[in-house]
Amino acid sequence: MEIALEAEQLGKRYGRRWALQDCSFQLPAGRIAGLVGPNGAGKSTLLHLAVGLLRPDAGTVRVFDRTPYDNPAVLPEVGFVAQDTPLYRDFTAAELVRITGRMNSRWDGALARERLAQLGIPPKLPVGRLSGGQRAQVALALALAKRPRLLLLDEPVASLDPLARREFLQSLMGSVAESGTTVLLSSHLLGDLERVCDHLIVLNASRVRLVGAVDELVAGHRQLVGPRHTGEPITGVGAVVRASHTGRQSTLLARVDGVVDPEWTVHDVTLEEVILAYLDEGGTRASHTEWEVPA
Ligand code: ADP
Repeated sequence: MEIALEAEQLGKRYGRRWALQDCSFQLPAGRIAGLVGPNGAGKSTLLHLAVGLLRPDAGTVRVFDRTPYDNPAVLPEVGFVAQDTPLYRDFTAAELVRITGRMNSRWDGALARERLAQLGIPPKLPVGRLSGGQRAQVALALALAKRPRLLLLDEPVASLDPLARREFLQSLMGSVAESGTTVLLSSHLLGDLERVCDHLIVLNASRVRLVGAVDELVAGHRQLVGPRHTGEPITGVGAVVRASHTGRQSTLLARVDGVVDPEWTVHDVTLEEVILAYLDEGGTRASHTEWEVPA
């Protein structure tokens, strides 16, 4: 299995504060991965480390087995759309396609022009006068025209309305499905990620809380309802992620690894429920804070 992006005990700090700490995961090539976490979790920091804009203070990050910060040869293979799609607003889309082409060796300008024409983006209007959704599409077209093997997108849809978000994500999915590009897409909008991602990295408070293939993560967790739980081991449960209690009853979101003790009623969970359980710091503190990375 080819690994597109790999972090090993990766860390970055600003002054004495760690923005990202002890971050380890592997992202297999060809996956569409969601990078999810609240504001300040460390998502942009991780993306900037992956694209070589930042140098790690601890551990390593590797893109197709090369470290991006001191290995510019890997950069043509990485497309990056930064937060708020910071384009030069006085330039038109057609000018941006021409200028960006001069800076990139694997450039396919025809692909960018075709894509923008299909989306009905006016080529001769300064991008500052386009809508937020259109600007996001210009930034995506420029990133895709590099024909990247790994595409990193930092909150690309955060400022778009729901319809523009859906259109953007659909067009992204269409393009990367054809090319087999690996994608890592940060967002705090769980619904969007659930629709498009087959892999997930959950960050909270500068640490990785959960990582793995979406179907395995959903299949590996259950909600259990049963007698009040005071921390004793439950047959079939690997770890309790979050627990809430009412009277003599407890509701647990748990990682399961076998047939659960029949004293508990077992319910399936959605991806959103799993993510929220890991983002709920109180819940994670109450039980298991450290998680193995599923293979
Ligand atoms: P996210 O993208 O998940 O919102 P960031 O990676 O931007 O999170 O930030 C992670 C932490 O690092 C936050 O506490 C943020 O305030 C801090 N941070 C990010 N960039 C800087 C910087 N240039 N200087 C100081 N602190 C920073």
